[in-house]
Amino acid sequence: MTVERLPIKPKKAKKAGCPTCGLPASKEHGPFCSKRCKEIDLGKWFSGTYAIPAAEPPDSAEMEELIEAIEADKTDDKFY
Ligand SMILES: [Zn+2]
Repeated sequence: MTVERLPIKPKKAKKAGCPTCGLPASKEHGPFCSKRCKEIDLGKWFSGTYAIPAAEPPDSAEMEELIEAIEADKTDDKFY
């Protein structure tokens, strides 16, 4: 017997979000979501690595997974 489960198909964001964290960009900060991410990205370019150790941004792929997990969780939750 087979138990068929609907696979969770995460939406792939076609519009590129913040290059640092992947969140939706803010008009105010260009392609970035916030000033912080903008500065982090600039730091990356200047140093070739993350320049702000105290504010280490999550890996973008990791962040994407997290967002997908949150979105999947929202769609699964129909108790509202
Ligand atoms: Zn960001």
